[in-house]
Amino acid sequence: MNIIKASKDLSNLLDSIRRENPKVTIGFVPTMGALHEGHLSLLTESVSRADITVCSVFVNPTQFGEKEDLEKYPKPIEKDIELLMRANCDILFLPEYGQVYPSTYTHQIFELKGLDHKIEGVSRPGHFQGVCNVLFRFFEIIHPDFAFFGQKDFQQTVVAKRLAHLMEKAPYIVVAPIKREAHGLAMSSRNVRLSDKGKMNAAFIYRALHQLKEDAVEMNLVEALQKAKQFIDAQKGATIDYLLAVDTTTLDEVNTLDQAEGVAIVTVVNYEGVRLLDNIILK
Ligand code: AMP
Repeated sequence: MNIIKASKDLSNLLDSIRRENPKVTIGFVPTMGALHEGHLSLLTESVSRADITVCSVFVNPTQFGEKEDLEKYPKPIEKDIELLMRANCDILFLPEYGQVYPSTYTHQIFELKGLDHKIEGVSRPGHFQGVCNVLFRFFEIIHPDFAFFGQKDFQQTVVAKRLAHLMEKAPYIVVAPIKREAHGLAMSSRNVRLSDKGKMNAAFIYRALHQLKEDAVEMNLVEALQKAKQFIDAQKGATIDYLLAVDTTTLDEVNTLDQAEGVAIVTVVNYEGVRLLDNIILK
């Protein structure tokens, strides 16, 4: 695996590979490191679809809010490198801040049609504009044919598709299913902050979503949501930040399944002081 820290080096390398073989396809997996099986499933997807896989490990400051703990974000880079090598990643892009955002770069405000202000955007203003700026830069440097994102961050996948639509030369956005622990908890870099017992217990979130999906067939959506909320509220130490049914394209809240072509349930539950994000597609 080639480890590259400078943007210019990465662009030059990929350009020369493309010159040699114009048909080569490049898959790109953006991450913030502290890799787990969820990230690795994106790598597997990229390795199987594209000729060359580039993975970035960069904790992007522009997507963190003032109160969010950027400094404490885990950075186990040696372990990440080992996992990436085992996953057959071809190139690790490991830039410093200035390589992603040179002094000549002006941060942009993308026209996201309000997607950035909904759901997670309510409590994280600026987060999705930060995500778009970093993706914009990565897409510019790498020019991937495919970029791989996890359904785990559902809103991010919708925003990434919108960004791709806005860019002249953008990759095809591939969304990979949520990788879960055996008992159902969605894998996340944040799960290390849960106690062992908490990690087992937190499976109640997926149980609630799974049950909600079944209930939505038999009762109306509002009742099904209410039942799921009661179930989660009854779990000791759990508080719901939000549990919403949304249109999978506009991210607007819906009250019935007929209101949109695609409907997802998105949730954040605070448990043992950790914000646990999860979602399930209803249709
Ligand atoms: P992060 O490092 O948290 O920015 O995540 C990098 C990518 O990995 C994003 O596209 C995430 O959605 C994806 N990802 C994180 N957790 C999972 C998971 N449990 N299953 C699938 N993809 C995931």
